[in-house]
Amino acid sequence: MTEANRYEFIIIGGGPAGLAAGLYAARSRMKTVCLERLTPGGALATTEDVENYPGFRAITGPDLVEKMLEHAKDFGMELSYSDASSIELDGTDRIVHTDEGPIVAKAVLIASGAKINKLGVPGEEEFAGRGVSYCAVCDGAFFRDQDVVVVGGGDAAIDEGLYLTRLVETVTVIHRRDQLRASKILQERAFANEKVSFMWDMVVREIHGNGMVKEILLENVNTAEQSVHPTEGVFVYIGSKPNTDFVKGLVEMDEAGHIITDLHMQTSVPGIYAAGDVRIDSYRQAVTAGGDGCTAALAAEKYIESLH
Ligand code: NAP
Repeated sequence: MTEANRYEFIIIGGGPAGLAAGLYAARSRMKTVCLERLTPGGALATTEDVENYPGFRAITGPDLVEKMLEHAKDFGMELSYSDASSIELDGTDRIVHTDEGPIVAKAVLIASGAKINKLGVPGEEEFAGRGVSYCAVCDGAFFRDQDVVVVGGGDAAIDEGLYLTRLVETVTVIHRRDQLRASKILQERAFANEKVSFMWDMVVREIHGNGMVKEILLENVNTAEQSVHPTEGVFVYIGSKPNTDFVKGLVEMDEAGHIITDLHMQTSVPGIYAAGDVRIDSYRQAVTAGGDGCTAALAAEKYIESLH
């Protein structure tokens, strides 16, 4: 291992958890690199409006990410566009294998976020990018003045559904229960928005079209009655699964793949921390992810000191 590949702290994932950790670690003068396989920001990078990050009454997700990234880099955090595939233990060394080769550190933070869930119904793959979307901010403009559906009842579905109302003609929220999971303020806005309507107790069974999405087959979960609903766009927001497969068997996890940590973000392996959406009991907010990242960096600093 060359000196260039040797760090004190390696952060896997450049979302709010990883970038907050990078800021704190760099300010502690730890040689720190943040590995990001795609675009920094994680889920925040595809969120249009953020109005619950303290200090910012209204800011776009990409703008907030850019500020976080520049802030951490200003203090010396390195950013490397690479994909971590595993972590190997060698005494007190923690070797992270990446598509750019191995790098080593005394402490590693897993902040690799979560990947979106898919419906898993016929037509979903076929019409992905041709009417089926998982990102209103990225694709919303293609549906200008059209009728679209949003599937899901959580914050993401309602937030992004409300964003879509600025572009499209109508948004129909299709939810499998008769109550939303989304926060009350988002619910109030959605109920008050005349472009938004709701289909309760419904699940999508199939997506049909002819080159582009034309209609969906719905099923009422109480009566099993099926119906066809015409639509030009299907935006899917049904939660996510943590990106932790690459450390399966190494650190303790729950059944869904969330990493179990203590209050210091320490996993079952000394020197390996987890923060943000990968962590068990996370509230999955940018601000809580940032708090996790800060805690992990401070704990890692103490841990590294304890090795000397
Ligand atoms: P979520 O809170 O887990 O909600 C997922 C929604 O999808 C739920 O309503 C769920 O229904 C539904 N669902 C799950 N599987 C389904 C299936 N197979 N078919 C149909 N519906 C299904 O996920 P999220 O909305 O992505 O939010 C994730 C986290 O990010 C949350 O903690 C949220 O607060 C946060 N977030 C916050 C904001 C914000 O504050 N503005 C924005 C986006 C995300 P049930 O309700 O029946 O379980």
